[in-house]
Amino acid sequence: MTDCIFCQIVSGAIPSSQIYEDEKVLVFLDITQVTPGHTLIIPKQHCKNLIDMSADTARQVFGVVPKLAQALVKATGADGINLINNSEEAAGQTVFHAHIHLLPRFAAGDGLDIRFVQNEPDFGKIAELAKHIQQEVN
Ligand code: 5GP
Ligand code: ZN
Repeated sequence: MTDCIFCQIVSGAIPSSQIYEDEKVLVFLDITQVTPGHTLIIPKQHCKNLIDMSADTARQVFGVVPKLAQALVKATGADGINLINNSEEAAGQTVFHAHIHLLPRFAAGDGLDIRFVQNEPDFGKIAELAKHIQQEVN
């Protein structure tokens, strides 16, 4: 897609700080370094997001996650890694070419606060929802 920023990064029309490449996948640093080493993993072939992604593309993209996570820990001295994907505007997606964020995390403090709020579990509702979603899995 010629009007897609990440397709232009794949073609070389827009420069990027690349750290890994194979036949199907490109990995480069995010221009907004939310934490030092903030990395994006993208499929070279355009697709919109996880909802739009084939299982083959997911295998290729997610398949490189461990070696990139290990490299980031070694290179930055990070104490941990968050993996984030934003799919669709409601989830915060701003670039509509699928990508995974890898965010090195630093125990000494890195200014990033990602927290799941704890609440009282409604086991009946959870079981009902699981059944409903299960019917949609194919
Ligand atoms: P999203 O919000 O869609 O999950 O994330 C898009 C990410 O792409 C943002 O973190 C943003 O900083 C990054 N980004 C946007 N334009 C460019 C660019 O031209 N080059 C690089 N390296 N990253 C970009
Ligand atoms: Zn694209």
